[in-house]
Amino acid sequence: MKIDSLETIVVSQTLDGGESFAYSQFWYDTRTIMLLKLVTDTGLVGWGEAFGPALVNKQLIDNVYAPLVIGRDPFDTEVIWEDLYNKLRDHGQKGVVIEALSAIDIALWDIKGKALNLPVYKLLGGAFRDKVMPYATGLYRRRTGDIIGELAKEAAGYAEQGFKAIKLKVGFGLDTDLEAVIAVRRAIGDRVKLMVDANHAYNANTAIKLGKRMEEYDIFWYEEPVPPEDIEGYKQVKAQLAIPIAGGEAEFTRYGHYRLLHERAVDIVQPDCCVTGGISEFRKIAALATVHQIQCYPHIWGSAVAVYTGLQCAFSLPHYPPSLNPDPVLLELDRTPNVFRELLAGGPLPIRDGWVDLPTQPGLGLSVDEELIAKYRVNV
Ligand SMILES: [Mg+2]
Repeated sequence: MKIDSLETIVVSQTLDGGESFAYSQFWYDTRTIMLLKLVTDTGLVGWGEAFGPALVNKQLIDNVYAPLVIGRDPFDTEVIWEDLYNKLRDHGQKGVVIEALSAIDIALWDIKGKALNLPVYKLLGGAFRDKVMPYATGLYRRRTGDIIGELAKEAAGYAEQGFKAIKLKVGFGLDTDLEAVIAVRRAIGDRVKLMVDANHAYNANTAIKLGKRMEEYDIFWYEEPVPPEDIEGYKQVKAQLAIPIAGGEAEFTRYGHYRLLHERAVDIVQPDCCVTGGISEFRKIAALATVHQIQCYPHIWGSAVAVYTGLQCAFSLPHYPPSLNPDPVLLELDRTPNVFRELLAGGPLPIRDGWVDLPTQPGLGLSVDEELIAKYRVNV
């Protein structure tokens, strides 16, 4: 079996005025995603996705990576990964170069699974659990009058839907952040896990100040308190707080994650398959995390391709350290408006009593709705 063609597809959805939302860095009013369709000479199709600037990812794949992948055996994931990485090693060990590579690697794993009629987690060595706990990533800022009241209402809604864990965006200033934490904790009660995510809006000093104020509200983790480059800052924050510190979504490859892990800068590492180099690299980062007894949970943001990729990986993660009653693995599930997440696989990811069951379909486990793609495709 050989790779016959690669098609890079850019899709875009403009959000309605009322749907736009902000995290600590930017407002979102458009979703633009690069999907990759990889076809073999036997007719098998694999799907991948790259996080980041869609048009740049497309150019990188079309002009640099595609000629190196066409004609190759899709089972040679390691060999292909190393070849592509080395091709641009001198020009980009992080960033879009790796994001574009991620899409190719993910599509190759999808093909391998489909060729063997096995879900990807089987190829990764099997499932360590039969269900994972999805958490609602929401609680962004909207253009509404009563922001704190809206956040409390939204959080209560997720708890009513059965979510057992919820993530709140912070990074908007200490007083506002604390007000939001208090309101959301009150709205969801004591039994739902509450995480906060600053998207690296603070320096270590400010991040510690906020952390101290949040400690009494039982925060399950504090995500990206400081910029990803500031490993020393992460260590300062971690040393000062009784809240677990999470990070890694803006880190690339095993080389980048190695420092984060080796220096114990985080308690929870969050590699994203569509960012960090695909499934091949995710599994290596997850293995490195076990060496340091650091929890690894996939970061997920994007279309259903990204969600199903993260899902497959979540089942393949061993419990570290193992015990009779380990914490469940948490699966990030963004709740902001996104037609590509909700409809690309024909419908939203099925959630049963607050859990996502082990998938059974081969490959990544999704059938991509190409009519939806045609509707939102941008001709570039
Ligand atoms: Mg985050």
